Amino acid sequence: MPELPEVETVMRGLAPVWEGQRFTRVIANRPDLRRPLPEALGQRLTGATVVRLGRRAKYGLVETDRGDTLIIHLGMSGRMRVDPGPLEKHDHVVFETGNGRVVAFNDARRFGSLDLAVTADAPAHPLLAGIGPEPLGPDYDLALLKRIFAGRLAPAKVILLDQRLIAGLGNIYVCEALFRAGIHPQTPGGQVTAAQFKRLVLSIPEVLVEAIAAGGSTLRDHAAPDGTLGYFQKDFAVYGREGAACPACAAPVARIIQSGRSSFFCPACQPPLRTRDKA
Ligand code: ZN
Repeated sequence: MPELPEVETVMRGLAPVWEGQRFTRVIANRPDLRRPLPEALGQRLTGATVVRLGRRAKYGLVETDRGDTLIIHLGMSGRMRVDPGPLEKHDHVVFETGNGRVVAFNDARRFGSLDLAVTADAPAHPLLAGIGPEPLGPDYDLALLKRIFAGRLAPAKVILLDQRLIAGLGNIYVCEALFRAGIHPQTPGGQVTAAQFKRLVLSIPEVLVEAIAAGGSTLRDHAAPDGTLGYFQKDFAVYGREGAACPACAAPVARIIQSGRSSFFCPACQPPLRTRDKA
């Protein structure tokens, strides 16, 4: 499932293709993805020039000079195929720009979505309203982390996955960030230590920046928009590595289920609270 680094990678890959370009044709090959496509999607985008590409949490944002913002959600399997050649069955929406480039939104499982918002109102759009601060943004710091953990009984893993508290973190990068910070995923938020916070505040942006630099991960059916496959998954320390040796201490990586999702961690590097020194 595309997480923040994958969406960032897709938008960075699209920027040189779309920025400053006019949409000459936008064709929807079906009326819906996860939800119905916006009414008059083609009319609102055709003739508009792309001003800026961006990202908020796991949503790609495409701002046009008509005051519209296209909100792209890749869902589980969504991909942006650049100059795809012959269209495939799951190329549901096809964008053509004045530079002769073609981009197809391909989504076999159709958990993705395309929405249009008036740019000025975009932050209040139901998809974007209420999302917490960006972990790579200006509002992210130690004080923010301490604030969202303070007094909470919820496990650290669950807190970091909560999009209302902090934006864009999914299962993979939360597992990796907690590993680097030496925090057991079941540690209640309120019991994370000062030393752990100091490591966590660094490890979250670190894992994201490294993943973006690596071109995004390509688990399952995600690919960077130029077709280049990323390679960050080989650098995962714990995610998906149950039973394999922890890269730090060689203990076998463990897996537990939290809120219906797998948490991977090293029981030695991320000891449960009761065995840890009360430093
Ligand atoms: Zn370890």
